[in-house]
Amino acid sequence: MFIIMHYVCIGTCGGVSEKAGDCRAASCPMHDKPLVECGCEDGRHEEVFDEAALEAELEAGEDEE
Ligand SMILES: [Zn+2]
Ligand SMILES: [Zn+2]
Repeated sequence: MFIIMHYVCIGTCGGVSEKAGDCRAASCPMHDKPLVECGCEDGRHEEVFDEAALEAELEAGEDEE
């Protein structure tokens, strides 16, 4: 089975691109931020979103202290 690398936006727009680039959805919180490389097979991009959630959690934790 081929794994096709793709680039996903970790914002709310759900953007997916075949090439590296930035989010182009003006209403997305990640607008103009680089898309994240993903190699999932099921189109859920779980690794990318898990990592993003973890980072957001760490950042939030730091802010609270
Ligand atoms: Zn986006
Ligand atoms: Zn994916």
